[in-house]
Formats: sequence, C-alpha cells, structure tokens
Amino acid sequence: MADESRERDRALGMGARITRRDFLNGVAITAGAAIIPPEMWAAAAADLQASDLEAQPAPGYYPPAKTGLRGDHPGSFEPMHQVRDGVFWNTAPKPVDTGESYDLVIVGGGISGLAAAHFFRKTAGDKARILILENHDDFGGHCKRNEFKAGSRTLLGFGGTYSIESPAPYSAVSKALIEELGIDVPSYPKYVAKDLYRSLGLKPRVFFDKETFGADKLVINAVHTGSDESGLNDADVAGDLDIFLKDAPLSAIAKQDLQRLLADDKDYFPGLSSNEKKTRLARMSYAKYLTDVVGVSDEIVRLLQAFPHPLFGVGIDAVAAQDAWGLGLRGFNGLHLDPAPGKGMNRDCIPNAEAEKYFFHFPDGNATIARLLVRKLIPSAIPGNTASDVVLAKADYSKLDEASSSVRIRLNSTVVKVRHLGDPHSAKEVEITYFTEKKLKTVRAANCVLACWHVVIPYIAAELPGAQKEALASCQKVPLLYNNVLIRNWTAFQKLAVRSIYAPGMYHTSVNLDLPVSIGGYECPKKPDEPILVHMMKAACKPGRPAREQHRIGRIQLYTTTFETYERNIREQLGRMLGGGGFDPARDILEITVNRWPHGYAYEYNSLFDQFWLEGRETPCQVARRPFGRIAIANADADAYAYTDCSIDQAYRAVGELAHAASAGIHP
Ligand SMILES: Cc1cc2nc3c(=O)[nH]c(=O)nc-3n(C[C@H](O)[C@H](O)[C@H](O)COP(=O)(O)OP(=O)(O)OC[C@H]3O[C@@H](n4cnc5c(N)ncnc54)[C@H](O)[C@@H]3O)c2cc1C
Repeated sequence: MADESRERDRALGMGARITRRDFLNGVAITAGAAIIPPEMWAAAAADLQASDLEAQPAPGYYPPAKTGLRGDHPGSFEPMHQVRDGVFWNTAPKPVDTGESYDLVIVGGGISGLAAAHFFRKTAGDKARILILENHDDFGGHCKRNEFKAGSRTLLGFGGTYSIESPAPYSAVSKALIEELGIDVPSYPKYVAKDLYRSLGLKPRVFFDKETFGADKLVINAVHTGSDESGLNDADVAGDLDIFLKDAPLSAIAKQDLQRLLADDKDYFPGLSSNEKKTRLARMSYAKYLTDVVGVSDEIVRLLQAFPHPLFGVGIDAVAAQDAWGLGLRGFNGLHLDPAPGKGMNRDCIPNAEAEKYFFHFPDGNATIARLLVRKLIPSAIPGNTASDVVLAKADYSKLDEASSSVRIRLNSTVVKVRHLGDPHSAKEVEITYFTEKKLKTVRAANCVLACWHVVIPYIAAELPGAQKEALASCQKVPLLYNNVLIRNWTAFQKLAVRSIYAPGMYHTSVNLDLPVSIGGYECPKKPDEPILVHMMKAACKPGRPAREQHRIGRIQLYTTTFETYERNIREQLGRMLGGGGFDPARDILEITVNRWPHGYAYEYNSLFDQFWLEGRETPCQVARRPFGRIAIANADADAYAYTDCSIDQAYRAVGELAHAASAGIHP
C-alpha cells in the first residue's frame, strides 16, 4: 500500500481495535458464479475458525453480540454455493443417519419457517415433533438482532427487517399471529420519541458528493417525498426549498428544472385517457420519463436516482414511471390520473391508508417477532411473557436443540438434499440431508416445509418437476447492505442539524440516526453526548441494466467485498458527510457491524421487465410454491412480496396444504 493510502487509513482509524472478522469473503465467489475448484474451497474452509461452524450449545454462544461481518456471515453460505457449483458432492463426507424422525422438518429458520412450526402445532398439537434446520448461526433469517456494548450500556440495532409494515393491510392470519405474540401494533406511538430529533432542530439532509455533483455539500432535504410511517415529527419545512435551491451545488438550469418538476401541472400526454397514460407509464422508467417526457436535466436524474433504493434495491432507471407516480414522486400532477392502480403496478406502489397506519418498530426490528415465535415454540430458550419484556431478554441458545423438546432449532446446518423415500406420491417419509460441523447428517420426517430462499430449492430438491424448478430458480433476491455503526456521540449530527442523510452518489445512499424507540426497559439514546447507532444502507445495483441483472451483479459484489473495504467506505463516508460538524471517524467510531444480504428482499414483479405481470398472467411464484408429495413450500418468495406478513401468510398456506393432504387421506 502506498504511503499516502496508509496515512489516509490511519486518519480514518482503520487500525483501530474494533472487532474485525473477515473469513473467506473475496475467495469464495467468482464473477458470474463460475465453478470454484474444490481445492479452493478446501483452502477456504481451512481458514474458517471453529467458532464459525460451531453448533449452538457451546457455552457463551450468543450470536447477536457478534460484530464485524454479519447478515449472510462467513460460514453460512459456502456449502450451498458448493452445491450450486456442482462440487459439493465430489468431496462430501459420507452421510451419517442421526436416527431422528420428526412429524415436520422445516428448512430455513426465518419468520416463515418459525411461523410454519407455530401453525403446524396448531393443527397437529403441541406434542408434534418439529425440527427447524437453519444455515446461519442465528435464527430469524433476515430478522437479525445486532447488540452492541458502549461501556456498561447495551444498544440494540436491526441488522435486517426493520419494522412491522406492509404496503397492503396485514391479512387476518398475519394480524392474528402478531396479536397472539402479544404485539399491540396501535400502541407504537407510546414508545417512539417522536419529537426528539425535532426538538434538537435535526432534519433530513441531502449529501451532494463531488464525484457526482462537483462539490461535497450537506444541504437541507427539500425533495423529500412519500410517506414515513416511523412516526417521527420533522421540524417545519416552510422555507426549506428556498434554502435547498440556494445551497445545492446544481446548475441554474437544474434548479429551474427542479422547481418546474415540483410545481408541475402540465399534461404531457394530452388526448390520452387515464388508462392509456398509465399503460405508457408502466412501460417506461421514471428516469426516462423525467428526461424524455418532462425534459429535466441529467443532474435532476442523478439527484433522484437513489430514491427507491430502500424499497427495491435499484434506482429510478429500473422503476416504472407508473410506480413512481404511486410512490408520490413528482411530475404527474398535470396528467390527472384517476387514483385506481394501473395494470402492472408494483404492490409496494399502491397507496393504502389502512396499511400505512399498521407500523411498529422494535429496537432490533422484526427480530423481536422471531424471538417471540421462538419463545412460543421453545419457552425455556427465551425468558419472559410479554412483547415488551422480550426486548431485553437474553436468549439461551443451549436450549434450542434439546432432545427433550418437541420443537428443536438446529443452527449452522445447511440442508443440501431433500428427497422422498420412495415414490413422492405414496412415500411415507422425506429424508433431509444437512451439512454441519464438516459432517453430513440425515433426519427423516413425515412432512417437510421448505421455508428457505426459492433459488436454493432446485439444488436441494432435485425430484421436483422441471417447470417448478425453473420457476423457483427465477426467483431473484435483492442484494442489500444494512450497516450499524456505533458512534461515541452524535454531537456532529447536532451541530449540522441532521437526523438522516440521502446521499445519491455515495456508497451508502441512506444514513440515519437510530429510530428513537424505548420499550420494555430499553432506553434509546436521547442526549447528543451519548453513544448511538447510525444505520447506513447500500443497495448493490448496476444502473442501466434490467433489474434482475442488477441484482445478480450486486449479489456478487456483496459477496466479494472484504470487511476491510466495507469498513473503509463507512469511515470515509461518515468523515466526508459529518466532518464539518467535527466528526472524526478514527476517534468517534466504536464498533461496526456490516449486515450483508446478497439474498435480501424477495424480488417483486416489475412492469418494465416482467411481461407476465403487466399482462396479469400466472406468475412464476404461483408455479414455484406448488406442493409436491410431502413437501410444501413457504418463504416470502412464495408470493414475490418482500414483507413479514407475506412470510407468515405463505407459512400458513404451506402448512394448510400439508394438513389438507393428511386429512384428505393423501398422506395419512
Ligand atoms: C435488509 C432487509 C430489510 C427488510 N426490512 C423489512 C421490513 O422492514 N419489514 C418487512 O415486513 N420486511 C422486511 N424485509 C423482508 C424480509 O425478507 C421479510 O420480512 C421476512 O423477514 C422474510 O422471512 P422469510 O422467512 O420468508 O425469509 P428469510 O428471513 O430469508 O429466511 C429464510 C431462511 O432460510 C435459510 N436457508 C436458505 N437456504 C438454506 C438451506 N439450504 N438450509 C438451511 N437454511 C437455509 C436462510 O439462510 C434464511 O435464514 C427486509 C429484508 C431485508 C433483507
């Protein structure tokens, strides 16, 4: 490394003694997911520390407290990638029969898998024997709890799923489960300090970076659009637009364009009916609409490019103009569209007032739902009785997989094969083979729910029909990075009067002070001189390409980026954005947890790229989720909808299919 870079790294605090765990990544995946030679895997596996593969009962085993590279952490994905690349079985050890047999084995310990266990017990009774196999070192899937220590204080963060929310109202099934878990969604306003940031004068800001806009500048965010269900009140926005127009490093033409866009009243499609206009909008990206129809400058497109990142993991180049209209983005006033959703609209973009009111954020996000489900399934694993006391309750991981318990959760266990023992239409059992602690093991079950990611299923359940495997394989995931950074204090945020930053040209396009929620004895930081978590999000995408291709490229990017690079990007960006407020990354960053989700949100159909969706034809997920013999298929992928209610609803359907087969005498 050149002296200059070394000097720069020192100034950023890259040598600081924060936890840094970075095994395998950068070695494991090659561009295009090419076949990886077995010897490379062997070398990589040798690099794995025993702790990365340990089964859960070791004393002190407590994954939420791990920092460094989390989310899809090292040790969780390698066996499955070997299976995908066709090399796993060349060197796989001989399977060992555990002799265990269950009423139900579930693959995947996310919300869908945990909910499937819960629903199965409702039909089969509490004595039903259930095993959940999960390839990560923690349960919850995307619902990941991140814990941090700042002196004697514990700070909680969400490493994935942020909140109970959904663009459409929760179904009766999902609502009933949330209520059964004791979560009183309407009580949320009691827990959020909604005026905290406002009382300190903090506001949303935009960071213009010099590479994209010619100058590094933090400016008031006056182009803030769409709704925010988090409940935070912002300071008065009157006059913000004038300040924005004065301060933003945009050309005079771009500023005029923006004013025109915000005030716009022009009908760009005169003579067309509302439906005809929507049909056009469904087939062009919002970026194209802005440049080719509204006629704004590229600078405005660059400014708005990353707006949809948190929702779709892609920018406005890959979001249909019709969807942008639904999201409340600008430029559609003069079209006088009737409010009914147009054909091919994404479900995230159809406004629904009832759904908007249904919001709850726990300090660890929906990891609380996962923990409440685990407590219901295995009461000894998490102490307490309420949805509040669970927030600070410490999970005892040694209780998750006890032989005496009717429900068992086995972590660090990657399922590599699922097959009926005999003809799938008449077989009495399914055999499930999983890889754990460098061993292959088998269990048997009368029923199996695959609650894992759909792209995985064709590799592990080879006996499924070809068309179904094709539909499963088409199910993309949206790659995302959710980083939590523990900082010494937030006086720099206070000095700069900022609570969130939209940074369209930067590595992380959104940066937020933690949502201030206190519940169950957990107190969020309220004074700027206290430590706090800063949440930094990146959508890994490649603008200009079809959405699925952007996700594929982004996924490889996330797997091949080292922790050191993630860390450098975090330090650089916070330093650049907040330096004016006195923030010093070397001094002020205490801890970093990178939650890498190369397989993030379920891919939601998009009228720009999915003709079947635009035309209202059968969707791949309808084919993908068909039951097969004693196997049923759950997960949020099963309805191509990236929300917790979907995971629950699909678990309910999958279990219902198994129950129906049993009661109809198909699988007695
Ligand atoms: C960063 C992020 C933020 C999100 N925020 C929200 C939000 O705020 N609100 C919301 O409603 N939704 C949100 N979501 C969507 C989220 O995906 C769902 O809410 C829900 O948590 C998905 O649950 P699931 O069980 O369907 O899938 P997952 O949580 O993905 O669980 C599937 C599990 O199967 C495991 N698995 C895969 N293959 C195997 C194998 N071979 N063997 C064993 N196990 C395997 C996976 O590792 C995973 O743990 C978010 C998603 C992400 C990625």
